Amino acid sequence: MQDLIIGIDLGTTNSEVAIVENGQPRVIAIDGDPILPSVVGLSSDEKLLVGKPARNQYVLAPERTVKSVKRQMGLDLKIPLGAQQFRPQEVSAMILRRLKEAAEKDLGQPVHKAVITVPAYFNDSQRQATREAGQLAGLEVVRILNEPTAAALTYRPNPDTNEKFLVYDLGGGTFDVSIVQAEGGVFEVLSSHGDTQLGGDDFDELLLNHIADEFQELYQIDLRVNLTTKARLLRAVENAKKTLSDHAFARIEEEFIAEKDGVPLHLTKELERSTFEQLIDPLLRRTMDCLQKALDDAKINASDLKQVVLVGGSTRSPVISRLLEARLGQPAHREVHPDLCVAMGAAIQAAIIAGSDVGAVLVDITPHSVGIKSLEVPDSFSRQFNEYKFAPIVPRNTPLPTSRSEIFCTVSDNQAKVDIDIFQGESGDVRRNHRVGKFLIEGLARVPAGNQLVVQMELTLDGTLKVTAREKATGLMKNIVIDNAMARFAVEEKDAAQSRLDRMWAESEWTEGDDEPIDPAKLADLLGSEPGAYDDDEEDDDDDEGYEKFPVPEPEEDAAAPRFQFPVDAGATTGQREAVQARALLEKAERVGAKANSEDRAELGRLTAKVKAALDERRWPDLQSTSNALADVLFYLEDA
Ligand code: AMP
Repeated sequence: MQDLIIGIDLGTTNSEVAIVENGQPRVIAIDGDPILPSVVGLSSDEKLLVGKPARNQYVLAPERTVKSVKRQMGLDLKIPLGAQQFRPQEVSAMILRRLKEAAEKDLGQPVHKAVITVPAYFNDSQRQATREAGQLAGLEVVRILNEPTAAALTYRPNPDTNEKFLVYDLGGGTFDVSIVQAEGGVFEVLSSHGDTQLGGDDFDELLLNHIADEFQELYQIDLRVNLTTKARLLRAVENAKKTLSDHAFARIEEEFIAEKDGVPLHLTKELERSTFEQLIDPLLRRTMDCLQKALDDAKINASDLKQVVLVGGSTRSPVISRLLEARLGQPAHREVHPDLCVAMGAAIQAAIIAGSDVGAVLVDITPHSVGIKSLEVPDSFSRQFNEYKFAPIVPRNTPLPTSRSEIFCTVSDNQAKVDIDIFQGESGDVRRNHRVGKFLIEGLARVPAGNQLVVQMELTLDGTLKVTAREKATGLMKNIVIDNAMARFAVEEKDAAQSRLDRMWAESEWTEGDDEPIDPAKLADLLGSEPGAYDDDEEDDDDDEGYEKFPVPEPEEDAAAPRFQFPVDAGATTGQREAVQARALLEKAERVGAKANSEDRAELGRLTAKVKAALDERRWPDLQSTSNALADVLFYLEDA
């Protein structure tokens, strides 16, 4: 009988375990989730917690919880956990043991051997500590494998050629970039550079400081002082960061976050993706410096690279693919799930050691970018608008299912309607792409230019595309569902996608073992789809009214109302945007107020006075909070 060897990605933030079955790597679920947070804790009654329960208690009991132990591996120190002290290997062993037991439960047999991955830059003592952790967990570590090699293994190169990969790995706590050479099935790391103190945790910290500084300015209270409040805020900003990977805005809402003069204070904040990208820009520049060093050390140019591979949860932020493509002149691959590909590669290496056959990893992706026609304003002096600019919303090679949104603005004052013209393709000019559908959203608020529309695209595994356009200030919404959007792809592409899909589907519905199967909602979330992440309007999902099946009739042209919109980043300043929203809300308040009872009218009067004052005095943060309060009341009154 062949050896049973599991592959383990022992990550700073998360860990995974995988196995190759029927030539395909499969990530094993742990309590229904493919990802185990690399967090260890002791409960209040001294019980050991590993994974999610430990991560959940971090907010309440940071002193009884250990995160990011990977950063301490190989160091001669003790880590306090409650009243006890542990070596880093011991803490890592607890994580490994949890993974081993999940694999045994899933496979229905004992597991004694593993391939464990480590960063390419790990030194001997860090590798040795990892081996010891494995032994402590009851595992013989048959190979310590470099993480970039594992990632490259999932993008199986042609064994007959010499191919070079650049693996850009940005996780929670660490960053590294490696050049991996594959020749005749043999992988070699030619160079590797990194920063052991740079990752998604630092992005969270920057966001946290940004929000805490703003809150402090408004209320003179520092949310970072109280450990529990800080942990709560940290979790909120991390969620917002993840939302921003697929959507142009994210809302942070934390009730009773602080108290002032006996009055509870709530935190409500809308974050723009562009703000986040500006905040993390200096850190991303550092990663680009490392990338250049890795290329120099391997003595190659960007043009020598066969593939650019993304690894690590933080590479889901779209700014990273953008920067890499601009720097390296080719799109980065993220078809294999960036959080899972190292574990899958470890499983592939394990299968190779065990003498099993491994096939190419199959994934389902969108083969073309999908987006809308927009208006580009070249610069503030020229009036040469480009009317045919393609604004992609779902980029090519995005794993399915997916849900993404972007914000666009009207360009004329009192613009009452906008065409949403949907295209797929890679050209920046829509005339060279393929039109998929079109619809019109009418009845927009009569406000100055800069009125924001959220355009959301949901693309399912079976190729159905749903496009929703929503006026941000009022919630006015219209959508279109295009069946078989994938049928427009080349036939061979569709066939390949179909067989990949069938296979993925069959595998995801496994029933072996009695561990819970992966929760479909979690899987969708993991695959980048966040249904409803931005649809805070309940009517959105289950209301078929307002749906239009493609094809829709051509809308009538309105000479007075230009049809175009442009991405928000290219246009209005922050103040303008807030002003547009506020004016739309004031207009709506007038309409709703006319029908409201005297008590509600008085409340509306009080709030609209505050909004008007903030608007007149151009106090933008105040305008945003008062507008939010007004929007809440309007929402309630409209619903009543
Ligand atoms: P890893 O160490 O590879 O598991 O990556 C974990 C890091 O990825 C954490 O900092 C997460 O906050 C971050 N992350 C996970 N999902 C996303 C996402 N959708 N967008 C941005 N960052 C993410």
